[in-house]
Amino acid sequence: MKIVEVLIEYANNSLNRPFSYFYKGYKRVDTGFRVLVNFNHRELVGYVINCYDYNEPISSLEEKLGFKIGEVIDVIDESPLLNQDLLDLADQVTDYYLSPKISVLQSMLPPSLSPRKSSLKAPKIAYDQYVYTIDKNEDGLTDKQIELLRLISSVDKVLKRDIKQVSILNKLIENKRVDILKVEKRRLAIPSYEYKEPPKLTVEQQRVVDEFKNTNDSVYLLEGVTGSGKTEVYLNLSEQVLKEGKSVLMLVPEISLTPMMMEYYLRRFEGDVAILHSALTPAEKYDEYRKIASGECHIVVGARSAIFAPLTNIGLIILDEEHVESYKQDTPPFYHAREVAIMRGKQHNAKVLLGSATPSLDSRARAQKNVYHLLKLETRINNKELPKTTIINLGDYRNIDRDSYIFSIKLRYEIQNVLDRGEQAILLINRRGFASSVSCRKCGHIFKCPTCDIALTYHRTDNMLKCHHCEYVCAMPNKCPECGDDRLIKIGFGTERIEEEIHRLFPNARTLRLDSDSAKIRAKIPAIIEEFRQKRADILIGTQMIAKGHDFPDVTLVGVVLADIGLSMPTYRSNEMAFQLITQAIGRSGRKDKNGIAIIQTYIPNHYAITIAARQNYEMFYRQEMEYRRLQSYPPYTFLASITIAGKNEETVIINTQNLIDMLNNQFGDKAQVLGPTTPYAPYEGNKILRTCLIKCRDQKLLHDVLSKIISVYSNRTSINVSVNIDPYNF
Ligand code: ADP
Ligand code: ZN
Repeated sequence: MKIVEVLIEYANNSLNRPFSYFYKGYKRVDTGFRVLVNFNHRELVGYVINCYDYNEPISSLEEKLGFKIGEVIDVIDESPLLNQDLLDLADQVTDYYLSPKISVLQSMLPPSLSPRKSSLKAPKIAYDQYVYTIDKNEDGLTDKQIELLRLISSVDKVLKRDIKQVSILNKLIENKRVDILKVEKRRLAIPSYEYKEPPKLTVEQQRVVDEFKNTNDSVYLLEGVTGSGKTEVYLNLSEQVLKEGKSVLMLVPEISLTPMMMEYYLRRFEGDVAILHSALTPAEKYDEYRKIASGECHIVVGARSAIFAPLTNIGLIILDEEHVESYKQDTPPFYHAREVAIMRGKQHNAKVLLGSATPSLDSRARAQKNVYHLLKLETRINNKELPKTTIINLGDYRNIDRDSYIFSIKLRYEIQNVLDRGEQAILLINRRGFASSVSCRKCGHIFKCPTCDIALTYHRTDNMLKCHHCEYVCAMPNKCPECGDDRLIKIGFGTERIEEEIHRLFPNARTLRLDSDSAKIRAKIPAIIEEFRQKRADILIGTQMIAKGHDFPDVTLVGVVLADIGLSMPTYRSNEMAFQLITQAIGRSGRKDKNGIAIIQTYIPNHYAITIAARQNYEMFYRQEMEYRRLQSYPPYTFLASITIAGKNEETVIINTQNLIDMLNNQFGDKAQVLGPTTPYAPYEGNKILRTCLIKCRDQKLLHDVLSKIISVYSNRTSINVSVNIDPYNF
């Protein structure tokens, strides 16, 4: 008999401890296997963290432990899920983020292998079955059987499903003349691209490549203006690493950018590339994951969770657009791919390369202090000029006329010019949907999400109200539920409204729209981008998805329709995010042969994030924003952690939050600042009420130690759940 100690699939701090079960079956089971167990009258998946032989009566063990031990219902895996490297990494991530280990494992593994119940229904390995001959002896066979045997023998192997005479085939198998060969099938069709001779590196690119190779630091930050050819640097360095027999992990921040990076890598290293991102089906993900684990390929191009790809012997980890917030997972364990990349880099002795035109303040500050090695690309390829940028003050009535209150006279004029010249434009509006809220004209009722309590966005395409925080949707009502009045007004605008306005003003313009609504349909994003690249549309309208990374040669106008949106986000990083977004968006203009321009519309034309973005002056922004962060004691000057308390009873939650804050103050003394209790932006989660507090501390180790103590104190309370977000982004 074996005793296994398992972690239960619920990623909850109060269940973050091992539970024991016994197993008497014949299957192999060990640390790192998933098992099916009964937990509180429910069948759940457990992850084995310890396993030992036990040959005395179970009752004696129960006596020793002081509780009853249940039996393992079944062992799910045939081999451990993770290799030693990844297990060590899981421990490091768990420790850094102070999250239940099971949540780390769930983030690391693809759906089919995840330690959770739903994985049991997820796709398994798919096979193609081939028939091949093992014995040509025709003695004792019927004529029909001989005919089929000869046919099969005449080819090397044939797909079983291609053979129509199933019963005859079965007889041949029974008589041991032919046999079935199962071959794993790959469900992701990776496109094939023609090899393209790499361009000769520019002097600047070559200098960066040499400096990277000839120095021995662990983390590098490549700060290169938009269009300076960072991708070519990545490819060049990757090639070197592959030549040394090592593997490369190439991360991009979101799915809209994977197709482009994938194409670059496939063109250069065809056959050696695996793809991992959220737009793959679970089956495709599973196949790619196994392809990587088997050592069949040495490059992985993927999004955030690809940082956990089971590559071995990693020589280089690259994070492109390292500043993008989607590198941070917004659910437990709230990990940031950059931190994990650095942990993994250390494990493998691999260099980590972070690239961006607008590095995150955190990374740039670390580079300033020589924690990271700073590399710079300061000019665009072919010395192309940066786009000439105009800021339009929407508050100045001279800039607007009655034809449109969304597009200024200047922006309309430039759009017309682009259309007349047969070039292309990008319009950025960082909000999807049609109207940002709907309210009743009579009583002022605002339609809000019943779970999150934030205003619902109106989407016209499907005539629905949607919560942009959770998954909640409902049909657009035709009258107010409070007073019954049918005059409902739509306030604010998003991508759908912009597209409509373009059609009204420029009836002949062909438009495409790209936002996360488009992402709901698999493969839609790359299709839209490809369509725009093929010039089958004149104007691309979209959210931040269109701002980063893309290289469209014919775009000569970028319009930021309302730059203010980002600046009102509830986070200390709102200036930084707005600056990055605008700078990146402007950087899409005039990248190839033609010069480009950009227009920024705003009600706050003097805001430094906007004026400096218009000048594309990263260094200047960095200095100014650092000053603000220093005054406010925000990162990179401090380390942050937020704690969320969730519970069904409001009073319990409030009391516990206050107790927790008292305890924190007690522990930290004057070594940290504790802010709260705060009601979060979205104050509910399901039927639970949330309260948070925020800790600012200069001493990272102290912060970690105090928090881990506090979590263990709170983890055995059942009326509330406490979770921690290390280096949080939103508040
Ligand atoms: P970034 O990521 O820095 O914004 P890209 O890597 O997209 O810039 O490069 C911009 C453009 O310059 C691309 O079209 C790329 O193919 C081209 N390019 C890059 N390096 C070279 C080079 N050495 N010679 C010629 N063209 C190059
Ligand atoms: Zn909601």
